[in-house]
Amino acid sequence: MTVMDSYLSDIWKRTLKLILERGKQKELLDDLIFNQFFSQSRLVDLNESKALIAAPGFLECSIMLQNKNIVEEAISEVQERQITCDIVTEDNLEKMRPVVKTRKTPSITGLNTTNLIADYTFDNFVVGSSNRESHSAALACAYNPGQFFNPLFIFGNSGLGKTHLLNAIGNYVAEHSPDKKVYYTSSEDFVNAVVNSIKNGQIQEFKEEMNDLDVLLVDDIQFLAGKEKSHETFFYIFNELVNNKKQICLTSDRQPSEIKGLEDRLISRFSSGLSVGVDSPEFETSVAILKVKLEKQSVDPSMVDDDVLAYIASNFSQDVRKLEGALNRLLFYSINFASTNRIDLKTAVAAFKGQAQTIDKNDLTASKIIRAVADYYGLTRQQLISKTRTKNIATARHMAMYLCRKHLDMPFVKIGDEFGKRDHSTVMSACEKVEKGLKNSDTYRQAISELEKMIKVS
Ligand code: ADP
Ligand code: MG
Repeated sequence: MTVMDSYLSDIWKRTLKLILERGKQKELLDDLIFNQFFSQSRLVDLNESKALIAAPGFLECSIMLQNKNIVEEAISEVQERQITCDIVTEDNLEKMRPVVKTRKTPSITGLNTTNLIADYTFDNFVVGSSNRESHSAALACAYNPGQFFNPLFIFGNSGLGKTHLLNAIGNYVAEHSPDKKVYYTSSEDFVNAVVNSIKNGQIQEFKEEMNDLDVLLVDDIQFLAGKEKSHETFFYIFNELVNNKKQICLTSDRQPSEIKGLEDRLISRFSSGLSVGVDSPEFETSVAILKVKLEKQSVDPSMVDDDVLAYIASNFSQDVRKLEGALNRLLFYSINFASTNRIDLKTAVAAFKGQAQTIDKNDLTASKIIRAVADYYGLTRQQLISKTRTKNIATARHMAMYLCRKHLDMPFVKIGDEFGKRDHSTVMSACEKVEKGLKNSDTYRQAISELEKMIKVS
């Protein structure tokens, strides 16, 4: 089962439960009817406002259609947005599917090498809370290009899956609508192509070919900064495509308004659709990603002990590229140096020996954080965990609590225990104060950054 399948099947499971509940309340359904006619159906596709549902046969389909209101009400409630449904039989579904032809790619003047990366699909993209929003927006754009968010702007630090998502959109459209023209490019290649076309007197052709696209995907748009000549061309192409309801998706390492050296009119265009962020994966997502990557390398995940995956996930999850790197290092090490086939924690620890950051971070404790913060502010440990409310001591205490939360991922209650048995709500409000401080004050930012150096996490 692909990731996409399990995503849809999970939504459908929850929807079916609600259909039965609502149907019973309205006295339109009972267990017998539900089990016979509803339970074998499946959710085939879902976007921002529409769902496609397949029923096994004609009878099931007719009875579901008769209860379409309940179905729509239930799926809208599960998805927390208004959704209408198309319900068809599996047979008709087959007929609806376009025959997948070989993909046509446009021959853009001067732009012929960069194109979709076939490996990056929705199927092998692991969804977790760090990327749920961007994944669902990307999927919606892929399902119905040009209809929802234009442009879709995905931002976030390096290695968090932006390029993957952008290509997944392209691959999805290319597979499901082979007649649509999709183009993926980095903004650097885009700039080069513009410059070359101008040099060769072909800028008009370039623009025309671009305007003919159905989906334009531009990666790392921050590199457009300072390239004024290309701004003009991009602005023109952007407006043409958006006006014609063609989909544009962009990525960047920061939000549009934070890209320096971009004309205001471009920033305002980039912000006019939907901007969604991607974050570092949390623990569970990291483990799931590692499992997908193992399969991709044809390693049976059961050959790797769970605590090994947990070890990598907790030490390398700042970004997915680091996770992949760590996994590759481990596989390389175990193939070459380990005596057993199974990869256990001992092998993993040996493979990462000497990677100081890992070891340091692993050794980090609340008590080390308290020590470092006390040293930094010239206080004693006792003062820091005392009940004193003197402003500078309280601020230092808040910083230490915040660092425990951020780097040790400790529950608020446990942090409270470490700081002289304080209530969890005190810890929560301390963390919020520091977060606010980080947004608004240089002093806070500097203090945290120096403290993080002291505890060796940055
Ligand atoms: P970015 O463009 O944000 O720098 P990439 O899209 O290049 O990051 O991702 C880096 C690597 O991590 C790629 O190999 C990509 O396949 C992988 N990756 C990132 N996020 C995920 C995810 N959620 N599931 C599976 N692989 C992922
Ligand atoms: Mg990228």
